[in-house]
Amino acid sequence: MRNITIAIDGHSSTGKSTVAKQLADYIGYIYVDTGAMYRAVTLFALQHDCIAEEQVNEAKLVALLPEITLHFEKNEDGKAEVFLNGKNVEKQIRTLEVSEYVSPVATISEVRRKLVEQQRAMRDGQGIVMDGRDIGTVVFPNAEFKVFMTASAEVRAQRRYEELMGRGHTDITFEEVLENVTERDHIDSTREDSPLVKAGDAIVIDNSEMNLEDQFHILLQLAKDRIAGRI
Ligand code: C5P
Repeated sequence: MRNITIAIDGHSSTGKSTVAKQLADYIGYIYVDTGAMYRAVTLFALQHDCIAEEQVNEAKLVALLPEITLHFEKNEDGKAEVFLNGKNVEKQIRTLEVSEYVSPVATISEVRRKLVEQQRAMRDGQGIVMDGRDIGTVVFPNAEFKVFMTASAEVRAQRRYEELMGRGHTDITFEEVLENVTERDHIDSTREDSPLVKAGDAIVIDNSEMNLEDQFHILLQLAKDRIAGRI
């Protein structure tokens, strides 16, 4: 079996990470959630006063970038969790506060350069499934299999809302989540550096009306065809 690179990009809260991880586990590839890396940098920015009065202080964050070290470690369920300077921050990076600032932080070219370099090094000859916004366009433009995932904003916000409720964030309203999802789509798609766009050779999957199982089987079949060199 040959090792290929699978790039899964798309809008916020499309369930990319869930299906990307499922696929990687099934075919024995490594899985990397690049959104977790941008979120960890955002958490660092919040912790180091690089965000004040709802504005990201770019110069301050860029000056502190050399102090940021990120790595992933698998937990007992086999799920990779992100560590910021040696500390597990997996839970802290999933709050609405981090979600509110992550897209502005991700517009900063110096931040992207640092993370993209680390993402490219993770492939290291192995089969990999990576999800994010610029994987098929910037990180691995030669990826053998590219997917672009989308769904209606309402469906995506509803899923994210239920996830946050499930984690006990009961003070948040559906409208706040919907606003965050659409705001992130807008910033991600219109930024100058590495905007979220579908790669010309990516397959589009709209999962608004698809269940997780159907989506997984569609992706698995497409991935198998590419791994076997049939496509
Ligand atoms: O995937 P997730 O929703 O966790 O990503 C959080 C944010 O990180 C995105 O809204 C986007 O602003 C940024 N991001 C990015 N490039 C990536 C992955 C995530 O700009 N490859």
